[in-house]
Amino acid sequence: MSANTDLIARSRRAVWHPATQMKTLDAALPLPIVRGDGPWLFDADGRRYLDAVSSWWVNLFGHRDAGIAAAIRAQLDRLEHVILAGCTHEPVVVLSERLSAATGGALGHAFDASDGASATEIAMKMSAHFWRNAGRAGKHRFVALAGGYHGETAGALGVTDVPLFRAAYEPLLHPAAVLPSPDARGAQPGETAETVAIRAAAALEQHLAAHADTTAALIVEPLVQCAGGMAMHHPRFLALARALCTAHDVHLICDEIAVGFGRTGTLFAHEQAGIRPDFLCLSKGITGGFLPLSVVLSTDAIHDAFLGDGAARGFLHSHSYTGNPLACAAALAVLDRFAHDAVLTTNAAKAARFDAIAAPLAADPRVAHWRRTGMIWAFDVPAAPRGFGRTFAQAARDAGVLLVPLGRTVYFMPPYVIDDAEFTLMVVAARHALDRCFAST
Ligand SMILES: *Cc1c(COP(=O)(O)O)cnc(C)c1O
Repeated sequence: MSANTDLIARSRRAVWHPATQMKTLDAALPLPIVRGDGPWLFDADGRRYLDAVSSWWVNLFGHRDAGIAAAIRAQLDRLEHVILAGCTHEPVVVLSERLSAATGGALGHAFDASDGASATEIAMKMSAHFWRNAGRAGKHRFVALAGGYHGETAGALGVTDVPLFRAAYEPLLHPAAVLPSPDARGAQPGETAETVAIRAAAALEQHLAAHADTTAALIVEPLVQCAGGMAMHHPRFLALARALCTAHDVHLICDEIAVGFGRTGTLFAHEQAGIRPDFLCLSKGITGGFLPLSVVLSTDAIHDAFLGDGAARGFLHSHSYTGNPLACAAALAVLDRFAHDAVLTTNAAKAARFDAIAAPLAADPRVAHWRRTGMIWAFDVPAAPRGFGRTFAQAARDAGVLLVPLGRTVYFMPPYVIDDAEFTLMVVAARHALDRCFAST
């Protein structure tokens, strides 16, 4: 028995894997990973795989980044954790200050949690509680976009529009109003992405005109709706949505859990629309994949609406690991990378070179809606045969690349440290995987 098969068998006996039908797990899964190095993962038998999805989009700088690891080690020698109710510490203070500064001071307060879904729930609770404190308790409903994803806890699922994730849990949810997505793929012949954005904003305007008095907030994934299929939209939608929310006294929650930290080409995606939200949810890449952490940034005006006598007016929410110093130290090391390494300009140059490398794949007749925003490439495979996702992932793995399609959408969301040769391998693996999927049809 190889080291791989032993770990696979034990994992399948003892571990309940996320987003996985355990019955149909194919024999080579789950992939037993024992080591990481930059964009590479190594299995127990010594085979290596290029992590083309940054391990669910968290490992911005690849695996075992030396700078982030050193920051965590240094923090380990001082303080690993302390309760954040009634205590504070340097890493959480500096992180909150630096994240606020990264929004130009527009979002002055940071509330910490440990994962993305909790960040969504915090923003939702804060928004509804804000309106209650403002004497408008009827404003507690939410507006979300078709195909949007904001996490899978019961509260976050209420604003998530991915039918597969919702169906079984429908009785547990408070469903949001779901409005048309500005997804640029919705363009009719002759229309531009901006036309689609304007049309989606018109639907939002109509909804808010009728329901603003019961609506707390609109939640959006700026520029790219990721889990719903890497649906990309024109920044005009965000600018219009910002104006509409302001006009109708509705908060704007930007969920940048996936797109934050340079993924779309700017530090935060909403910057490309020249706007600031009322709430900004961050997680995933915030620690470069080292430790679980999420942060919800909000305006000082929202924070101040919770000041008063009595606990009930204050924001009532906490997690045991809130503000964990090790996680904050990791996040500070990530911010250092952006401050000192010209990450955004390097990525822009890389992305342009990678576009050229990917040109043959983009021109493949099986590929539709080839698209890119920043360091996210995606395409659809409209004629995908049955079992496409599984066959594609397995074929890519056989070619040494970890690629996981979302339905009929294939995407690359590589660590920023990827080089030209590695990107080429990703493209070659994707073409090989397409060939395998279509060979049997
Ligand atoms: C991943 C994701 C979440 C949920 O984060 P978890 O840490 O998985 O709970 C929320 N919103 C978006 C946009 C995401 O991509």
